[in-house]
Amino acid sequence: MNKFETELKAGNFVTSECSYCNRIVWPPSDYCDNCFKDVNWRKVSQNGTIIELSRKENDVFCIIEFEDKIRVMGKLDAEIHMAKPGQTVKLSKCMLNDKNSFFFNLEN
Ligand SMILES: [Zn+2]
Repeated sequence: MNKFETELKAGNFVTSECSYCNRIVWPPSDYCDNCFKDVNWRKVSQNGTIIELSRKENDVFCIIEFEDKIRVMGKLDAEIHMAKPGQTVKLSKCMLNDKNSFFFNLEN
């Protein structure tokens, strides 16, 4: 299990970041994909932006972007007509080893 998965299992959404290049390293990795130095790990902002939405039966699935870089898929706790791309959501819960590891609420 890598650091990202260990933290996710504990309910923390973290990203790798390179302090030499001053950039987020995503997808998460132990090494910067630019300079190959070790990364730092930190929590991701709790607020993201809806990129895409889809519905499957009564569930709304979404792709959410954080900090202009980090994209994850998850489940949105809302009716699909209440949400649209560009809207802000808040991470409500994340976990590992579940088909839907990320859960979001709409932010007003
Ligand atoms: Zn770097």
